[in-house]
Amino acid sequence: MESAASVFEFADLSPAVSAFVAKPKRLYIDGQWVPAASGKTFKTMDPASEQVICEVAEGDREDVERAARAAHKAFYEGEWSRMIPAARESLLLKWADLVEADTESLAELESLDNGKLVRYAKRIDVPATVQLIRYFAGWATKIGGTTVNVSIGIPNTEFLAYTLRQPVGVVGQIIPWNFPMVMAALKLAPALACGCTSILKPAEQTPLSAVRLVELAEEAGIPKGVINLITGFGETAGQAIVEHPLVRKVAFTGSTVVGKHVGKVAIDSLKRVSLELGGKSPVIIAKDANLDDAIGGAANAIFFNQGQVCVAGSRLFVEEPVFDDVMSGLKEIAGSMKLGGGRNPDSQMGPLVSKEQHDRVLGYIDSGRREGGEVVAGGGRHGNTGYFVQPTIFKNCNSASTLYKEEVFGPVLVASSYKDADEIAAHANDTIYGLAASVWTQNLSLAHRLAKRIEAGLVWVNCHHLIDPALPFGGFKQSGIGREQGADGIALYTETKSVLMRI
Ligand code: NAP
Ligand code: MG
Repeated sequence: MESAASVFEFADLSPAVSAFVAKPKRLYIDGQWVPAASGKTFKTMDPASEQVICEVAEGDREDVERAARAAHKAFYEGEWSRMIPAARESLLLKWADLVEADTESLAELESLDNGKLVRYAKRIDVPATVQLIRYFAGWATKIGGTTVNVSIGIPNTEFLAYTLRQPVGVVGQIIPWNFPMVMAALKLAPALACGCTSILKPAEQTPLSAVRLVELAEEAGIPKGVINLITGFGETAGQAIVEHPLVRKVAFTGSTVVGKHVGKVAIDSLKRVSLELGGKSPVIIAKDANLDDAIGGAANAIFFNQGQVCVAGSRLFVEEPVFDDVMSGLKEIAGSMKLGGGRNPDSQMGPLVSKEQHDRVLGYIDSGRREGGEVVAGGGRHGNTGYFVQPTIFKNCNSASTLYKEEVFGPVLVASSYKDADEIAAHANDTIYGLAASVWTQNLSLAHRLAKRIEAGLVWVNCHHLIDPALPFGGFKQSGIGREQGADGIALYTETKSVLMRI
């Protein structure tokens, strides 16, 4: 049943976040905060203390049905899709301002629910959320078609041809738990800028920041039915969104396994689908790299956000002459990292998001050992409470081993050395994934050669994990279909219509 009180008292939470946690977490459908039709709720946990934070409404098929009808009505009868673009822009900008003004609380809430460090949530997650909303707000007034120079050869007849880009309609948006708030903004902001209406389903592990973001959208004056929030489970609520006939497009971020399933279900009704999936991204350090930068960069590439990043640099390739230096530098960093709760200012790494994820990652570490890998750093659980895993580095893993091939989504690095700079792209590409890569070198030609040869949606040179809303983001191969962000991100939420007029 819906319960108002927090199950556990988190003594150090700010009054604002305590008050938010204590009130019922409902679904947002057609501009109303409502309990699930079934009355059911589920618990969300603090992964550092393993305590229940609060109950959240568990939306299911019936709630999705209501949300889809509300989004459909808002799209066809409401003002949003017809509103002048500048008005949509200013409402989105107002939303971004409210999110920015709420930075402290949002960061604390995200940290509580996900386990990530408050410090990072404040410096990275909330600003990225604000930046995404502002960037796509700007697109509202810049979406347009082209005039087309046609060659239709009918004597004495002229034509005017042009294209329109129109919103695709109701979109279903399903997101994971690693950057809950950023993912919500990355989905909602472009869809709304284009005039679409949305049903958003956050991950069951981290529903709270989405609730708060939607509260702020409501406060900004985004009209009813434009955003509908269904907290709940993937197999029930998520599946119902993907199947729903009124949903025209599905945007999914999550695992490759679920992404394939979502794609198959969506194609039954020929919905547009974009998929942002997993990765096993290579980090390549050449012998001429600035080694301090490269070692720090490689550590950050795998340990940031506890390794729970789709673009985590989880396979490291180091040119032979500098391999030992890089390994000893990484070992030192991994060995000195302080693990602790996200609200502890001394923590450098927080817990993994859930027990399930904790057990999965520890299972991968065991398999790495079993399959002959050598542990250079870490290699186990940290502490007895909370889902902490030591920053872990392996070397000498067989390239056919599970740990070498599969996405771990945790702080576990597999390192190897290489001899031939011209062959390294082939090793980097020896994966089903193709999301990102980073190359560390001072050799411009090598950097550009590798950038061209590596099969990945995003190649960084002398940096990793830097993302910008203007830069298209997505995967080659089994890392996904489509590109979010930039002009490509707008294309995902619009249909192109050609108009041909005899004049
Ligand atoms: P997941 O298990 O695939 O879940 C993602 C979302 O899909 C969740 O909201 C989940 O609901 C929902 N879902 C599950 N089954 C569904 C179904 N049958 N129909 C519709 N929705 C369904 O992924 P995760 O474990 O949360 O996230 C980790 C994965 O995401 C990693 O593989 C990572 O690489 C990937 N990721 C990719 C990107 C990118 O941009 N490429 C970004 C971040 C993460 P529940 O919450 O109930 O499970
Ligand atoms: Mg949680």
